[in-house]
Amino acid sequence: MTTEDFNFETLTAPCPVCRSDNTKVTQKIVNLPHFPQLWLFNLLCNDCNYKHNDFLNLSVKEPIKYIYHAENKDDYTTKIVRAANGTLRFPQIGAIIEPGPSANGFISNIEGILRDIQQKAQHLLRDATKKEEIKRIGNYIKLLDEYIEQNHPIDIVVEDPFGNSSIIPFDPDKLETIQLTKEEAEKLKTGFMVFEDVKQKEDD
Ligand SMILES: [Zn+2]
Repeated sequence: MTTEDFNFETLTAPCPVCRSDNTKVTQKIVNLPHFPQLWLFNLLCNDCNYKHNDFLNLSVKEPIKYIYHAENKDDYTTKIVRAANGTLRFPQIGAIIEPGPSANGFISNIEGILRDIQQKAQHLLRDATKKEEIKRIGNYIKLLDEYIEQNHPIDIVVEDPFGNSSIIPFDPDKLETIQLTKEEAEKLKTGFMVFEDVKQKEDD
């Protein structure tokens, strides 16, 4: 039996945004090296172009937390698998990506996620009107540049109450895997991407 695409189905569901039935829904279960049973789900609305991707790791169901300690360029290629209910945090730069109504599942690497956060900050900068706000966001974009260009040591924390998100490490020795208690899992928030106050670097 081939390991991929052994279960593939197309069905319809109304668009959660415009309620149109003119949508395409696909789902399948694939077997990948780190994910023996990964259920992929994709909805595309042909009327309003709303897209939703998510996946469910059918082989893991426990609340879990991963921490990867990235130290160099190679570490920045570490893959992050984020299901829609996963929370991503970069404590050193105060960035959090939390689950929310518009959250999508994605697979990216550390550099890709930092670039994505930078792009979102650039959108915020365009809408910013207050001087101190413009300065703060501008500094944040510069800080992200430094991390992306110079591959400063950075930790990425992935938490998922359903154990669907994961980290595929460049260096397995730099990955910590921590089982979350039920209480810790319940504390995980839902919401949108937020920026915590950025702490000044001590050597500044
Ligand atoms: Zn729609």
